[in-house]
Amino acid sequence: MSQILFKNIKIFDGTGKKLCAGEVLVQGNMIQKVATGTKKIRASNVKVVDGGGATLMPGLIEPHAHVCYTDCTQLPQVGQVPPEDHMLIAVRNAKTMLDQGFTALFSAAGVAKIRLEVALKEAINAGHFPGPRLLAASPEITSTGGLGDERLLHLHQESIGLIADGRDEMIRAVRLCAREGVDNIKINISGDQFARGAGMETLSYTDEEVAACVEAANERKLNILTHARSDGSIRMALKHNINILYHADFITPKTMDLIEARKKKIFMAPAAGLIYSTIYEASDWGITEEFAEGLELKRKLESCMRVYNELRKRGIKVLPGGDYGFAWNPIGTNARDLEHFVNLFGYSHSEALRAATQLGGELMGINIGLVKEGYLADLLLVNGDPTQDVSILQDSDNLLMVMKDGEYHKEPQLEQMAKLRLAPAAE
Ligand SMILES: [Zn+2]
Repeated sequence: MSQILFKNIKIFDGTGKKLCAGEVLVQGNMIQKVATGTKKIRASNVKVVDGGGATLMPGLIEPHAHVCYTDCTQLPQVGQVPPEDHMLIAVRNAKTMLDQGFTALFSAAGVAKIRLEVALKEAINAGHFPGPRLLAASPEITSTGGLGDERLLHLHQESIGLIADGRDEMIRAVRLCAREGVDNIKINISGDQFARGAGMETLSYTDEEVAACVEAANERKLNILTHARSDGSIRMALKHNINILYHADFITPKTMDLIEARKKKIFMAPAAGLIYSTIYEASDWGITEEFAEGLELKRKLESCMRVYNELRKRGIKVLPGGDYGFAWNPIGTNARDLEHFVNLFGYSHSEALRAATQLGGELMGINIGLVKEGYLADLLLVNGDPTQDVSILQDSDNLLMVMKDGEYHKEPQLEQMAKLRLAPAAE
């Protein structure tokens, strides 16, 4: 079994603690030993990697991934890509994300082609293509007129949704997705401002429909996650014990109390990256700030900032991931979300990093996200200190190594690390 010893590194272990000097031994696909301070690891038959003082940290985890999005400008375009072409885009996206240091993706929804993410996951696991670990999701299970229902009378059109109305169709939708191999069931309990039949503060489903979906997903031991923007939709999700709550932009302090009472179990994610870039960075695509304001995006972002600053103070587990996969926030720029956590939600840089590592690992449900003995060796070597500035992770040139499951995706950039070694040591 191969053994790699990383020396002359500073370790960010994923918990949010300060960087500390140390050494890490990787054996096969596992982190075998971690030594900090002046302690040294003794081992024979090892390949030594001298990190030149670079930062060793867990691979990034994207907790709200849409790996099959096409960097489109409008959702129906996702439906217009034939499956064969779409599969190739998905394969390319997976590699792009791994290039950027994302070693694991928790899918927040697939697209209207149910098998796409599943086939991608299986191909990556078989070693046919490079890509992150992936938990594949269903399309957005949505009601007639809800977010993801693109149908027009007399014309076929689809994007990201699987339409199910009523108890029986809900059960069938979950069974179908389970049969095709998804890990995550996504249900849209609220609409959105782009949906023609259910606005962002409208409930798309009844209690009976949500209950049926949850029951069918639980029976099959699938993760269940929800798109829910309004207070009522989050209340409904809580009532049915859905613990992975996306958006929640408009929740009230009373609903926050309910969440806080269950904070060990609940994961939340604002997914504000898309909202931010649509308001401020989409003018090249004809979306001016005034136009975005007309879509109520500013109201949405302001409310989201209020809510998540409060959730942070209450110690709720909040995860990054900002619906990357549109033209103005393309796949591969996902690390931008950590900067949003700092600027919009008041996180420290190391708290934001912890959200993308330790908390992401908890969400994935496997031993990843920490530099700790017994954890899987998904590791990055970073030129610089991301606990002082998370934005350095947005430039893949700062990634001096990407390792997934003990294997290099990007070999250690030894020349660059040697130069670091010669440079005067940072404080
Ligand atoms: Zn999303």
